Amino acid sequence: MNNSPGQLIVLAGPSGAGKTTLAHHLVETFSSAVFSVSTTTRVARGSEIEGVDYFFTGREEFQKRIENGYFLEYAEVHGHLYGTSGDWVREELARGGSVILDIDVQGALQIKEAFPVSILIFILPPSPDVLSSRLSSRNTDDPDAVLLRLEMAAWEISWIGSFDYFICNSRLDDSMVQVESIFRGERLKIANITFPPEVRAFTPDRFIGLEHWHGKRVIVTSGPTREALDRVRFISNRSSGLMGCSMAIAFRDAGADVLFVTGPACISRPAGVDTIPVETAKEMLEILVREVEEADLLVMAAAVSDFRPSTFRDGKTERSGTVRLDLEATSDILEELDRTIDCMCPVMAFSLEFGPDGEKRALGKMKRKGAIAIFYNPGDVQGAGMEASSNLGKLFFNDGSYLEVKRSSKRYIAELLTAAMGRYLKKGNES
Ligand code: 5GP
Repeated sequence: MNNSPGQLIVLAGPSGAGKTTLAHHLVETFSSAVFSVSTTTRVARGSEIEGVDYFFTGREEFQKRIENGYFLEYAEVHGHLYGTSGDWVREELARGGSVILDIDVQGALQIKEAFPVSILIFILPPSPDVLSSRLSSRNTDDPDAVLLRLEMAAWEISWIGSFDYFICNSRLDDSMVQVESIFRGERLKIANITFPPEVRAFTPDRFIGLEHWHGKRVIVTSGPTREALDRVRFISNRSSGLMGCSMAIAFRDAGADVLFVTGPACISRPAGVDTIPVETAKEMLEILVREVEEADLLVMAAAVSDFRPSTFRDGKTERSGTVRLDLEATSDILEELDRTIDCMCPVMAFSLEFGPDGEKRALGKMKRKGAIAIFYNPGDVQGAGMEASSNLGKLFFNDGSYLEVKRSSKRYIAELLTAAMGRYLKKGNES
């Protein structure tokens, strides 16, 4: 597995803005960049090659693929269907490739929704006149089609605010430098990567233990759970799911076979990891009861709701002056597993605590829940923990030792915790 995960880079903007040229420039410049060849129902133009420019197919076949969930995104553009293969993109990303998509604005917005960490670059033509003359000089469309594309351009440009970057493509040389800069800058973003090899070389001790996970089965829970009050509303916990997702990625990268059980979180699912989405604490428990006996470690990073409404009201509760809400405790997942499972696997728990007694409470929790380790993270530090991209805290072990983790990105922390857990279990096995 490549140390630096692949990135999903989307170049979108009106036809004639120069997206395809810039997309190919990235692929030619960076060896890790790969071009996603789309499928379309339009017929091939003169010099276009099947499998290089597009995969050409009929409408019926395209519709079938939509129904089979083949496409990560698709859209109708100028009367033809275009779509991106989901499996191919996910496999390339898991391999560490940076996937370059040259697609329309509707598709780009779908990608951002499915992959919030994708990078959307809007390629803007310098003016309506320049766009019009570029489209006319391509000689691929009749004048009516050119007019239609110009109208579409105005609509597409109205979406520029949903993008991460824009490049105004007036001089191709300048635009090439700009797109390369975005690519390079994104590769260097700390939050996007795990520890670079140079860091590992300087501080190798911190990474001893990662090798322990090769071929092991690890279950990671993540995200909040939702407990419904009626068909529309629910109570839940604040949680982005990023810590759990980062743990799943860290164990995956260490060579573990990871099962990721996640509540409704806003982070996209990690590639190369079996994922089971759940909604409630009860559903999460049911999956774990089925799976934990085969596992070598259960990582409980989910922010499971401790309460649920005592009754479920069908439909949507009408607004009225005062509504009484009776809550009851959900079952404690670890206590329940301990009660029902004969051969429970080791558990690493997470504990978000507020106030000066936070550490003490976390230690109490580790004991009560029979966990071998617990990551205590204080809830009262600005910009860290819940719904933040960074975290900090202490990983306590049940032999009284601990590892302090300074504030860093959740991806970094996950890797340090994964190594520390490996060291601890290895030591236990040896003694
Ligand atoms: P053309 O027919 O000129 O090659 O492409 C027409 C438009 O469709 C362009 O804006 C192009 O970027 C877009 N397009 C190409 N492939 C895809 C795709 O897979 N998905 C989406 N949504 N748009 C695409």
